[in-house]
Amino acid sequence: MSERRSKPTYLYGPVPSRRLGYSLGVDILPFKTCSLDCVYCQLGAEPKTTVRRAEFVPARAVLAQVRKAVASGQRIDAITFSGSGEPTLNSGIGTIIRGIKRSTRIPVVVLTNSSCLASPGVRRDLRQADIVVPSLDAADEAVFRKVNRPHAGLTAAKIVAGLAAFRREFQGQIWLEIMLVRGVNDGPRHLQKLKAAAALIRPDRIQLNTVVRPPAVKSARPLGPAEMEKIRKVFGESAEIIADFNATARPGAPVAVDAEAAVLAVVGRRPVTTRDLALSLGGSVEEVGDLLEGLGSAGKIRAVVHHKKVYWEKV
Ligand code: SF4
Repeated sequence: MSERRSKPTYLYGPVPSRRLGYSLGVDILPFKTCSLDCVYCQLGAEPKTTVRRAEFVPARAVLAQVRKAVASGQRIDAITFSGSGEPTLNSGIGTIIRGIKRSTRIPVVVLTNSSCLASPGVRRDLRQADIVVPSLDAADEAVFRKVNRPHAGLTAAKIVAGLAAFRREFQGQIWLEIMLVRGVNDGPRHLQKLKAAAALIRPDRIQLNTVVRPPAVKSARPLGPAEMEKIRKVFGESAEIIADFNATARPGAPVAVDAEAAVLAVVGRRPVTTRDLALSLGGSVEEVGDLLEGLGSAGKIRAVVHHKKVYWEKV
């Protein structure tokens, strides 16, 4: 193992994102540190949820890695907090966002499950971000428990109130993501409750998603395109279905010279297709496919099939 790989890395990608372009992932948590245990989670099931905020990783080291990646000149369209769980559980996130904003104009994006936004301190921490993508899959306590399997004490009502408060305080963009799971949160009565919650939150966009990547719970099923389109109409003009990323080329050099380490950094955080990785690493699908097959044969990653598509995931 090379010296580079033995150091903790808080970055992954840039990975092609369906909505953010080439997104440099910033991961400031130990693997699956989350307040929820969603049935569709790409990180696998983890019944030990938490709402305790802690530093988890040194803010200075994260900032140093982000600055180095930005200075490398590679294409980065967004710097995105995401990865191994709920990023607002890291109590240093405000410091890290402020540090990034001082060093670059690349937009800072935070993907959050919204569970901590009832806290004024968390809302303050996110104020410096450019775009916050909070998720809201349930506007009813029974559905919340079924789809998000939350930490005890969290309620859908508190989450909606936290989101509405954040909207009043935050000047940047809010893209509200709703993950739809067949037979769980897609019923007409529940969709009306979600619509009413969205009216309180007043997001800039509503983004409808479904279970396109391998989920924690195998029975979590996606909706089809026609059903998604029907639901989009329920939410009106500001709603969109997140389309597949369709970039064809990636200018600039990859983050890591060590392609194997770069692959493991991405696959360790979410299942990806060979095409996703080829776009991310800058190689051909054939070259990257060979690398993935080799890592698969070595038992470092494995291939899984989800809705007729092959994804690579961590072992
Ligand atoms: S999908 Fe996100 S919010 Fe849900 S359990 Fe996984 S990491 Fe947590």
